[in-house]
Amino acid sequence: MEQITAALLAWYDRCARVLPWRGFHNAYRTWVSEAMLQQTRVETVLSYYPRFLDRFPDLPSLAAAPEEDVLKAWEGLGYYSRARNLWKGAKQVMEEYGGVLPRDPEQLKKIHGIGPYSAGAIASIAYDVPVPAVDGNVIRVLSRIYGIRTDALETGTRRRIEDLAAALVPAERPGDHNQAVMDLGATVCVPGTPDCARCPLSAFCDAFRAGDAADLPVLPKAKPQKVIPYAVLLIRSGGRVLMRCRTEKLLQGLWCFPMLEGEFAAEDLPAAASRKLRLSLSTLRDAGTGRHVFTHQIWQMHIYETDAEASASAPAGYEFIPLDQLGNLTLPAAMNAALAVLTRPS
Ligand code: SF4
Repeated sequence: MEQITAALLAWYDRCARVLPWRGFHNAYRTWVSEAMLQQTRVETVLSYYPRFLDRFPDLPSLAAAPEEDVLKAWEGLGYYSRARNLWKGAKQVMEEYGGVLPRDPEQLKKIHGIGPYSAGAIASIAYDVPVPAVDGNVIRVLSRIYGIRTDALETGTRRRIEDLAAALVPAERPGDHNQAVMDLGATVCVPGTPDCARCPLSAFCDAFRAGDAADLPVLPKAKPQKVIPYAVLLIRSGGRVLMRCRTEKLLQGLWCFPMLEGEFAAEDLPAAASRKLRLSLSTLRDAGTGRHVFTHQIWQMHIYETDAEASASAPAGYEFIPLDQLGNLTLPAAMNAALAVLTRPS
């Protein structure tokens, strides 16, 4: 194991990615970077991270901010529950830990939004605590090195991978070690066909010897996402447009245009929309389509536009928003296609 760790650190010293959240010990900054990186590509995070830290440079500034400001700074990054959890967690750290993230991983796991992976990443990277941070990258790399060919999500296999990951973490430079595994998984030991010719660990790798790296880790087949059809309605009234701040768990607190679930014949939609919104909508013009892929579902959207009377009042739960104030609201990327229709030059 020491040989693997030594080879990995030597490779990291030569090939580590230069990233703005590296090179210093700051638990808050590590936390923000790890929250942003969950389910999101490094290239995407690179543009959000500096802006977020300009706006919220430290934990007290994040904890003191209104929730809408935090969501606005996260706008377009997706998986907004991460932003909400970060904000709630910051408040909790202010109240329960005097504004300082604890170094003990067990304490870290008690903070809102910090799971075992983030706790390991924060403790090892910011505080040099020798604990692993097991995410999909680590599962893939270790499954290949140790030739683990059973379902990686099954409890026994998962525990075995966690034990191996813990045994590999050195007492010195544990944060660098964990980041080296992350880098190896992101740039060399990638999903699908890995680049074994460039790998510092090929001499230790069971899957490389066996030639089945592309088949590892063994994962259960993902369920196909559910496709949900929606009619998205752009209802203008004077210089305003009808919107709703979502209360559902998915995209909670973000603003969307009115949506009707289902597929509608063109002649049926005005009546259905009028009933749902308690507005009199006689015509709805076809304005194109949009599609947004979430982890578990896909929104297949048909966009329609219409004009209501300038004096129309918004139905309960909705608001007419002046068009020049739209930029102050946080809209999810799922609304991009409809927004493009709304803002296109006439
Ligand atoms: Fe991954 Fe190939 Fe390196 Fe094994 S040798 S750890 S499969 S890149």
